[in-house]
Amino acid sequence: MVADDKKSLIDSLRKAGLSAAAITAAWPSWWTEEAEESPSGRAELRFALARRLGLEPRPLLGERVEFVWNDEAKFKHLNAQDEAQRAALTSFGMSIGRLLLRATPAQVTAAAPADILREAILVGNAYVDLNSLVATCWTLGIPVIYLRVFPLDTKSMHAMVVRSDGRFAILLGRDATYPAPVAFTLAHELGHAMLGHLDGAPALIDLEDPALAHDGDDQEDEADRFALTLLTGSPDPDIQTNLDRFNAPTLARAVLDVARQYRIEPGTLALCVAHRTRAWPVAMSALKFIYAEPKPAWREVNGIADRMIVWDDLGDDAALYLRNVMIGGDA
Ligand SMILES: [Zn+2]
Repeated sequence: MVADDKKSLIDSLRKAGLSAAAITAAWPSWWTEEAEESPSGRAELRFALARRLGLEPRPLLGERVEFVWNDEAKFKHLNAQDEAQRAALTSFGMSIGRLLLRATPAQVTAAAPADILREAILVGNAYVDLNSLVATCWTLGIPVIYLRVFPLDTKSMHAMVVRSDGRFAILLGRDATYPAPVAFTLAHELGHAMLGHLDGAPALIDLEDPALAHDGDDQEDEADRFALTLLTGSPDPDIQTNLDRFNAPTLARAVLDVARQYRIEPGTLALCVAHRTRAWPVAMSALKFIYAEPKPAWREVNGIADRMIVWDDLGDDAALYLRNVMIGGDA
């Protein structure tokens, strides 16, 4: 009986498109079969799941799944995803973003131009890299985490900015083995926040990698220019290489040689050259030679987040949920 009830609840959530990983992460730790036997326990379970997954609580009492956020978010690089999937993505992201903001000291985030932010970061760093960028976001009162649990069965989001009460949170989706591409994504998302692209929208979702997908969207171009200015000092960096022909190791050596002089992180420099010359595969394999070892970006980003989040501001169960989402199933 009890098992049937749990099963039918999970079935409803799965049918709405939510992934098993998201349901498992959101499942409250206090839940027991005894709790499920009492009407209040059953209600409590549904309220907790609704809050965490961004669902309307009342319909869920009757096993009906309605997302809190439907078509309010801005989607960039929209592909064939259906409306229900977009609602699931937005609602999940909003609930995580708000949870994060609850545990991040409030800060009035003044819109800062990219060149001013770059100057501030360069006071204490050789260049703007992923670490210093993540730290700067937190200093601005903008939490940044990697999602390790996705609301949909297919990983279908590059990154997302959530806006709540005039504050922002950034959720990164697709993981990378090296930091430079992630630094670009983060700088691009910060650009969306700083450039007012979320005015009137609760969330902005980049479904595809903005570095690769260009579809004549002005806000995408603006966010790219913001990112490049922040990372390189120019919205359109003219990085020349004196190598007529280069391969991955020679490009790696060249960018390592000049990174400090240009004050551009070596991996970012390689990506700039790739952008100029359309030599993406060479630049991507140059990253292997630039960094001593592959380092999943999510560990670095969520490591900083773990130190910055004021865990005590969340209840034990909400904190556990956020940790689940930040660690995922294969930690
Ligand atoms: Zn974008």
